[in-house]
Amino acid sequence: MTFDLAIRGGTVVTADQSFVGDVGVKDGRIAALEPGLGPAARDIDAGGRLVLPGGVDSHCHVEQESSMGVMCADDFYSATVSAAFGGTTTIIPFAAQHRGQSLREVVKVYHERAAPKAVIDYAFHLIVSDPTEQVLGQELPALIRDGYTSFKVYMTYDKLRLSDTQMLDVLALARREGALVMVHAENHEIIQWLAKRLLEQGHGAPKYHAVSHARLAESEATSRAVVLAELIDVPLLIVHVSAAEAIEVIRTAQGRGLRIYGETCPQYLFLTADDIDLPGLEGAKYCCSPPPRDAAAQEAVWRGLADGVFQVFSSDHAPYRFDESGKLPKGAKTTFKEMANGVPGIEIRLPMLFSEGVGKRRLSLSRFVALTAENHAKMYGLFPRKGTIAVGSDADLAIWDPEREVTISASMLHDRVGYTPYEGRTITGWPTTVISRGRIVVDGGVLHAGRGSGSFLPCAKPETARPLGRPVPELALMSRVVGQPLF
Ligand SMILES: [Zn+2]
Repeated sequence: MTFDLAIRGGTVVTADQSFVGDVGVKDGRIAALEPGLGPAARDIDAGGRLVLPGGVDSHCHVEQESSMGVMCADDFYSATVSAAFGGTTTIIPFAAQHRGQSLREVVKVYHERAAPKAVIDYAFHLIVSDPTEQVLGQELPALIRDGYTSFKVYMTYDKLRLSDTQMLDVLALARREGALVMVHAENHEIIQWLAKRLLEQGHGAPKYHAVSHARLAESEATSRAVVLAELIDVPLLIVHVSAAEAIEVIRTAQGRGLRIYGETCPQYLFLTADDIDLPGLEGAKYCCSPPPRDAAAQEAVWRGLADGVFQVFSSDHAPYRFDESGKLPKGAKTTFKEMANGVPGIEIRLPMLFSEGVGKRRLSLSRFVALTAENHAKMYGLFPRKGTIAVGSDADLAIWDPEREVTISASMLHDRVGYTPYEGRTITGWPTTVISRGRIVVDGGVLHAGRGSGSFLPCAKPETARPLGRPVPELALMSRVVGQPLF
């Protein structure tokens, strides 16, 4: 066979093996993996470099309106270009429902936004903020069958949050339909109560954002979400975990055999609440929810990445410019309660974890691949098409120079945010060639893919969403008494 592309002599790494050899690509897929492959139309010499699966970023906000009506700085072009330059070849952003909207309509709008612009492949999670009878009874089950098999719900934010009753409705539906629920777990009323007092006393500076989003607000909501999922006997993913207390809640639930999954993000490894404590509004650049905590929490996050409490490491890229169009809707008068929440990170997610995790020997290379690619594909029903290097998988690859030193600055990144919280940090290791379905997307710092060359990926119902099949005993008993399942 003559291959379309052969990547020769690199160290190929997946979540469970590593070997020096060649990768042969034909018709967009990996067709052979062995040393000394035959001829190819195009050769890449990867000697001395690493050949990793392209990253899968399963938590990023792209061309999305926030619940306060602020549009992200990145559209599907800039976000996917930025992702690709950082070694990511698949993104799973959100099609976000705001109250009163039809989910079907929302999904249509996001397709119209993505299709003409994306340069790499994409799937969608749904955000469910209005679980009406129509949504629960018709739209959501139909969308799940059409390949939107995961959705995010919020326990905080006025215009997004679900009550516990609504959470139970959504979890029961996910169980019935085989979908995976992702939850933003923070106690809304604790945050509101603290914020009100802070503002009444004139404390509106960005650093009070981290005070109001207290660690206990995160761990309480995480515990409650775990209880709700256990009651319904359905798996649940706690997204963007930052506090050591919340990590312990997840670890304990996993120790009890529950299917509770955890996700964390770069901001919880590389920022702390001290970064928010800057003069004027500068600290707003580092504000996200939940907020970065302290050095002890960073250590707890590293531990959770290494020992398996966390399955996925995502960017939670939430790109808002540092001006009135984004972070600061009221200009210099903006309080922490009015700021747009979120930090950018779609491009630095892999390189920073590589440098500080693999480079500093906190994570093995295989664990890095699992946390940044393979586990995302498995979590959301895209495996083995995405997330691995195997014969038959899409040829989504990132060729890394593990020695390359890069000093991060907003000017070298490809998003449209205009700043990075990691300005001036020097890291080691960067992807130099990035390939999506056999197409060279980025090579030597140059973009080669055209607008709209990425494809939509419908997701299968994921294995991870399978219930344990052991409802809590009193509910099992009650189901027997009433003669039919309760949910
Ligand atoms: Zn969130």
